[in-house]
Amino acid sequence: MAFWGIRPKQSSDQPSFSSRLSLRPKAAVVLLGAGASASVGAPLMRGFVDRGRDYLARGIFADDVKPHISDTLDLYGALRAHFQITEEDLDNIENVLSISELRKLVPLPNLPALTETSTASVQRFIEAVLVKAIRLPGPESGEWVGVHFGPPQKRLLAAIWRLGQPSAIITLNYDCILEYCSYCLGLPFTYEPNACGGVEILKLHGSINWMQCSNRGCEEADRVAVAPLEYRPTDKQDYGTVELNASSCKSCGAPQRPLIVPPTWAKDLQHPVLRATWARALEVLAKAEVLAVVGYSLPAADPQVRQLLHAGLSSANLRQALVSVGGDELAVERWKQFFRGSWRDYRLHVTNQTFDFVANSELLAVLGVSIADFGHDQLQLLPVPQSPGINCEVRERLSQMMKEKGICNAAGGEIGVNWRDEIQRRRNGTASDSSQYAPLIRELGLDWRPSGPLLPVHGSHFYCNE
Ligand SMILES: [Zn+2]
Repeated sequence: MAFWGIRPKQSSDQPSFSSRLSLRPKAAVVLLGAGASASVGAPLMRGFVDRGRDYLARGIFADDVKPHISDTLDLYGALRAHFQITEEDLDNIENVLSISELRKLVPLPNLPALTETSTASVQRFIEAVLVKAIRLPGPESGEWVGVHFGPPQKRLLAAIWRLGQPSAIITLNYDCILEYCSYCLGLPFTYEPNACGGVEILKLHGSINWMQCSNRGCEEADRVAVAPLEYRPTDKQDYGTVELNASSCKSCGAPQRPLIVPPTWAKDLQHPVLRATWARALEVLAKAEVLAVVGYSLPAADPQVRQLLHAGLSSANLRQALVSVGGDELAVERWKQFFRGSWRDYRLHVTNQTFDFVANSELLAVLGVSIADFGHDQLQLLPVPQSPGINCEVRERLSQMMKEKGICNAAGGEIGVNWRDEIQRRRNGTASDSSQYAPLIRELGLDWRPSGPLLPVHGSHFYCNE
């Protein structure tokens, strides 16, 4: 409650940064790597083993997960003892996974800890630690209200929503932070292009909630269903975890497993859903006038993503790029080398600020949105339609109309109840965007793109076309 009507901190402590574009970009792509999820607690690849050990000791894993956690920790220990000559970064859990996959090619008899089921266990380990490590405010938390609080993903989603498709978020993370934030904000999102006009989220390495039948012989094996997510409060005040509500295959009864492809040497992108997602990523990159990268270090071990970027950006529509990789100096250098010299000097901005920070400043600036643009009141994250024709006067009239409808009070203040009702309606898929805005939009002769249903929490399905 106390959040309403609070003014933002003065921006004098922020460095000056302004977009070099004089116009709001027609299309933008934001690429998220592991560093982006770290902003809400996800471990970086190097932190998984420690977290797994901690969480096991604290007894927070479900019983069916515990054996996988123990097996993975045993494997990690065995590998450490086994490699006496060479140096492998085993604290990077993806390297442990990679080694476990080696067994597909050659037997490794000296390593009894490496069993037939090791790869599956390490995958379960990664999923379980990720889910428990990410802590987000509950759906009713005041952090979702307004622009200035809450996780940085919130401002990113609001900005991409405002730009509309073909602007999109491409993510290499398989956690469900973006989906959950969308839900809490009442913003629709979609994994499929043009499906319903929501914020497009393209998950190149799959997602924890994309479920497929584990029985390879099943007729449903190539299909992917989106599983419902569930918020579980933890003892820590207003924060909780977002967990999967998995079920079994409706056709054969086998358990469903997430479609996730960690970037190991055995990475297989042949699944039709992944191929469709990569194809769409190429398309949105080709249209992008702005590329913003958060928390992705462009590792040499991930050539596919690098080539995707090369191919996508070759259409030369790009006018500006912002890269935020925290304090990773090697990553800064790799990104600079990725662009040609003329770009490096002028159009590329590499910052060592965190996601939290850039989401309030540089990121919004390159996307053509600023905090001031959002204003100070709660209505600002509502999807007031954006189109080139919308100017201050139109916005004013929309605000006026929303005020009359009791959705908001443009001056800020006692509108909490209505705001929450509105978010609830959006979550239930009963929001009446069109009826609220459409008459005025029509009157003004503007293009109105209705919002689609919310996909996440109520368990929708999507299937690939192939
Ligand atoms: Zn099945």
